[in-house]
Amino acid sequence: MLISNDDVRRGIENDEFVPFFQPLVTLRTGELAGFEVLARWHHPTAGVLSPDRFIPIAEQNGWIDALTKRLMQKAFEAGKLIPEPLTLAFNVSPLQLHDLDLPKRIQSAAEDLGFPLQRIVIEVTESAVVDNVERAQTISNELKALGCKIALDDFGTGYSSLLHLQSLPFDELKVDRSFVGSMIQRRESRKIVAAVVGLGQSLGLTTVAEGIETREQAEMLLWLGCELGQGWLFGRPIPAEDLPTTVEMPREK
Ligand code: C2E
Ligand code: CA
Ligand code: CA
Ligand code: CA
Repeated sequence: MLISNDDVRRGIENDEFVPFFQPLVTLRTGELAGFEVLARWHHPTAGVLSPDRFIPIAEQNGWIDALTKRLMQKAFEAGKLIPEPLTLAFNVSPLQLHDLDLPKRIQSAAEDLGFPLQRIVIEVTESAVVDNVERAQTISNELKALGCKIALDDFGTGYSSLLHLQSLPFDELKVDRSFVGSMIQRRESRKIVAAVVGLGQSLGLTTVAEGIETREQAEMLLWLGCELGQGWLFGRPIPAEDLPTTVEMPREK
């Protein structure tokens, strides 16, 4: 099915976009550490659609803010079921990292629904940093001042990564799943993952590997010193309704 601008606009008006939640686990213990929020579209006829079908359209038409706002509201609402200290990680578009109002908007959405800012992670990609480093710095620093954490997503797939690593106050480094997917078969991928994890460690960042599908991958990542993992091995993205029943919550401290 081909999706038009009008379809997406109608979807936003009818509030058809929902957050799905994919678990992040501590590789050493297998304990749940939080969730990444991934956008889905409950399309009236086509079923559940992935973000690559509608995020680019929302970005091009200036609707990404409205979409993100609703997703955050719904995720924070569901977040009431998610106990401390579990985090919620959100993806923001490169465009949004140039919007000086972003921190204020995240703050008001979180405060309205009572979700602690300290448990929010904002995932950005390198392309977000490239266009306007100063603006991205200002916004990141404000987010940090609010207590949010910042993750560099899809690390290794952009360009001049190392430059960006030092320009923003990152807390986490996410190894792109293309490297994780081939690290068992390909020695080169393994070496790259090892180097990225080592780099993250030496910069004092939390390293996160995404796209973990097999136990073998998880074990190798743990052995390489990677802290957090995400992928089908631990759980697929699930709707808010499934949160308390399908995910084992950590015990009270
Ligand atoms: P991402 O941020 O890199 O998210 C990880 C993607 O990998 C997700 O795809 C997730 O479902 C998928 N994934 C997770 N574990 C595995 C695994 O073990 N194997 C494989 N093959 N895939 C796995 P998804 O949900 O289709 O999202 C695609 C991209 O869309 C995301 O990539 C992110 O860049 C973007 N996106 C998602 N939600 C939002 C949003 O709310 N706002 C913005 N701006 N972008 C979003
Ligand atoms: Ca992400
Ligand atoms: Ca990613
Ligand atoms: Ca990606």
